[in-house]
Amino acid sequence: MSAAIKTVEALVEAGLSNGRGLDAVAARYAIGITPAVTALIDVADPDDPIARQFVPDAAELVATPEERADPIGDLSHSPVEGIVHRYPDRVLLKAVHVCPVYCRFCFRREMVGPQGLGTLTAPELDAAIAYIADHAEIWEVILTGGDPLVLSPRRLRDIMERLANIDHVKIVRFHTRVPVVEPERVDGDMVAALKASGKTTYLAVHANHPREFTPEARAALARLADGGVALVSQSVLLKGVNDDVETLADLMKAFVENRVKPYYLHHPDLAPGTSHFRLGIEEGQQLVTALRGRISGLAQPTYVLDIPGGHGKAEIGARAISGGDGCFTVRDWQGGEHRYPPE
Ligand code: SF4
Repeated sequence: MSAAIKTVEALVEAGLSNGRGLDAVAARYAIGITPAVTALIDVADPDDPIARQFVPDAAELVATPEERADPIGDLSHSPVEGIVHRYPDRVLLKAVHVCPVYCRFCFRREMVGPQGLGTLTAPELDAAIAYIADHAEIWEVILTGGDPLVLSPRRLRDIMERLANIDHVKIVRFHTRVPVVEPERVDGDMVAALKASGKTTYLAVHANHPREFTPEARAALARLADGGVALVSQSVLLKGVNDDVETLADLMKAFVENRVKPYYLHHPDLAPGTSHFRLGIEEGQQLVTALRGRISGLAQPTYVLDIPGGHGKAEIGARAISGGDGCFTVRDWQGGEHRYPPE
């Protein structure tokens, strides 16, 4: 199998780009495309939705005034290195800031990659685990980053064993792209390392286009589901990738077919140099409303916005109910309005 692409020269050599204007992009943001993703890209299609997610573009140097380096406000909620404690009952544990791929729309693009925040040192990891142990209100630990599944099974097992010793932690959740972009990494050793005695493991799988569900990715998801890991989805609504109802419907159905419960559909964050990926919230609302009538309730994601400044997530799906004082108007998926309770 060919090597991962990490430089402009390698992009040009693989026929994925002519490289024009990309040296300045590469100097600022990491490049990473795994062989599995390279194989998925249709080089004959200038608008290929897989290429758009991973192949750098000179448009990334165009920053708009509303964009910010820390769009979801991680840093303002970080009591110790590697921990983000935004909500009382859960924390993010960012053990590593490396990913197997570097998504061009990444909300943490200023923090990930070789120039990013790196991997927690042993004392930093000790302090992060001690923080979790000292806060009895923490019910859930979310390993994110970066992509935590770039860690070896041995290191993941070590983290899980340390979390297993903390009684008040009941749920450990991993946020990852690995099952889709590097499915061969998800072997039996990795699946076993994700579990710990007395804890329930969830894994949020990041995928944005139905073509990402290759036979290898489907097999990796099956190994996780068969191994007792509960699977939920996360996707980003992206202009030119999945901003039409057919693609979104196929994506959500692919998740469900692979035992991944659709969870979050994120409105793109205000990360620097990503305006070419952003669509309007009204467009997003129309798309999720159209999904309602089109696919099973089981396949519906929740459309969310991370409020800039670290204020957490808000559901932003089209308002389907209005009124009050015991008399409401409910809107169906075709826009029809109905009184509730009925007259
Ligand atoms: S895998 Fe996640 S953290 Fe890594 S570049 Fe993509 S969106 Fe960012």
